[in-house]
Amino acid sequence: MSQQQANPWDSSQLVAEQLKRGVLTIILVLAWLASLFAWGIMEWQGTVSTVLRVVFALNVIFHPTMFAIVWRRLLPLRFVELSCLVFATLICAGCMALHLYSPTYGADIDLRPLYLWIPVLYVFAFVIGDHKSGLRLSLAILALYVGISLPYLLTPPQPATNFTIQLLVVSGVLISALHFFAGYQGRFQRAQLTMDELTQLAHTDVLTQLPNRRRTMSMIETELTRFSRYGHTFSLILLDIDHFKAINDQFGHHVGDQTIAALAMRVHDVLRTTDAIGRWGGEEFVILLPETTLDEAKHKADTLCAHIAARPLVGNHTTTISCGVAGIESADTLDTLLQRADNAMYAAKAAGRNRAVISRTSNAGVAAAE
Ligand code: GH3
Ligand code: MG
Ligand code: MG
Repeated sequence: MSQQQANPWDSSQLVAEQLKRGVLTIILVLAWLASLFAWGIMEWQGTVSTVLRVVFALNVIFHPTMFAIVWRRLLPLRFVELSCLVFATLICAGCMALHLYSPTYGADIDLRPLYLWIPVLYVFAFVIGDHKSGLRLSLAILALYVGISLPYLLTPPQPATNFTIQLLVVSGVLISALHFFAGYQGRFQRAQLTMDELTQLAHTDVLTQLPNRRRTMSMIETELTRFSRYGHTFSLILLDIDHFKAINDQFGHHVGDQTIAALAMRVHDVLRTTDAIGRWGGEEFVILLPETTLDEAKHKADTLCAHIAARPLVGNHTTTISCGVAGIESADTLDTLLQRADNAMYAAKAAGRNRAVISRTSNAGVAAAE
């Protein structure tokens, strides 16, 4: 029941950013190894030309540079992603142009591996952006390749004509499919976010922004499970504003609401980060104190009573509270624990209010407030 409720959108953005960083470093390492491997094989076979040596050398320098930038977080991830995409697109475009138009320099550039890599660029464009920017980037890359190959395709059929047309058609189909799936994924993410927000709303009290009764019960259930499984003790404080009806009657319902909200805020001054408070209903709150004995909880409840009574919550009328304190016992269920806290709270009312009373179970198992 911590007050620091993570914004689901922020946390999902952070996870996506870390995921992208991880994927990008893996891609860069793999691309670097692939370049080295291909270069080595071709050198060994003696089939590498000067042009290809330049291409391989560029690859071998570029990938570790980008890897270092991502690893050391020297530049924004977005910049590195776009640089990688532009670099790969231009390398492929240069090789394509040389093969199609320069028999001297492009004859030993094999179109088959080149055309295998081009579709990967579209996938990468969608990975680094949403479905809209992925589409824009992919279409820009496709337009570049269409522009480069068009003069070649407009001449009478040549050896690479059919293969190049196939590449462009497959590119179009792939981009359409990627756009469809990326859009679908975006809708799914938004729906997931709405679900998270709805769950958050269903568990939050509107007036105080504290966990509501349902959420508070589930928190107590969790502590009960921890107690029965691992023996971790905990205590509860049931807190009720004194003469709250009189506040409503005297100052109006609106001031009553403000008092409840102000109390919810002020209680946090006294709680540890591991403690939790939920609105139980009306002007009643439950405070859950993990790893806290009954006597420690009583001390905390006394401090709380004094802290609330010390200065007015709203306007200049002093508000006081009464607290019932109960510590978990081996035979307890959610109902018996709350019942004991409730009994103790009414004992505090009967004893004059603005105080805390603890509930102790007698040897006969009958709860008594003292
Ligand atoms: P006691 O000291 O015995 O607790 O007296 P009390 O007046 O606080 O107790 P009682 O249960 O008689 O009155 C509680 C009142 O709280 C009754 C109800 O109208 C009012 N109330 C419950 N929920 C809200 C709320 O959300 N806002 C406001 N303004 N009043 C509320
Ligand atoms: Mg009440
Ligand atoms: Mg009351």
